[in-house]
Amino acid sequence: MKERVRTLISEEEIDRRIREVAAQISEDYRGKPIHMICILKGGAMFMCELSKRIQNDNISLDFMSVSSYGSGMTSSGIVKIVKDLDDPLEGKNVLVVEDIVDTGHTLHHLLGILNTRKPASIEVCTLLNKPSRREMDVPTKYACFAVPDKFVVGYGLDYDQRYRNLPYIGVVEFEEDEEGSEG
Ligand code: 5GP
Repeated sequence: MKERVRTLISEEEIDRRIREVAAQISEDYRGKPIHMICILKGGAMFMCELSKRIQNDNISLDFMSVSSYGSGMTSSGIVKIVKDLDDPLEGKNVLVVEDIVDTGHTLHHLLGILNTRKPASIEVCTLLNKPSRREMDVPTKYACFAVPDKFVVGYGLDYDQRYRNLPYIGVVEFEEDEEGSEG
């Protein structure tokens, strides 16, 4: 089986859209500090590209890593914190930066945990959104792209830990090797 990644959203499209969303966030938080929380590892590339384009002199960054128990590609939404945040959230305007919201279970559970830490406000900015798969109603105020019900990779998202470094979003496709073909 040959594996290849078909481009779904190009680097240029992502760049353009991140600038738009960053401008919106700059406007919405004008005069207010923003505490951005990156959900590792998938949100890492998006966090960097988004944060540097938000115009605000009072942005702080923190990182957390969670694992979601589930079988295969389905998420149970039971979230275990693998690496917790370094700083408290009390009184802060928290912006959670996610790679993708699929069923919404992970985010629902995560927001429950973060809300117990008493932030002044909490919003979510996700690079990708799969609305057709949603099972939990989660507030995604900022969403860059809606994607179809396909397993996507790139721009932080992995397939078996690979492809996170791709500068675009793609779909992994498998092809039968042609008989007699080389390589
Ligand atoms: P949810 O709990 O919303 O169903 O799942 C969220 C998590 O599942 C994401 O943070 C991501 O790690 C993973 N996920 C969901 N859909 C995809 C996908 O299409 N590609 C990749 N690489 N991960 C996905």
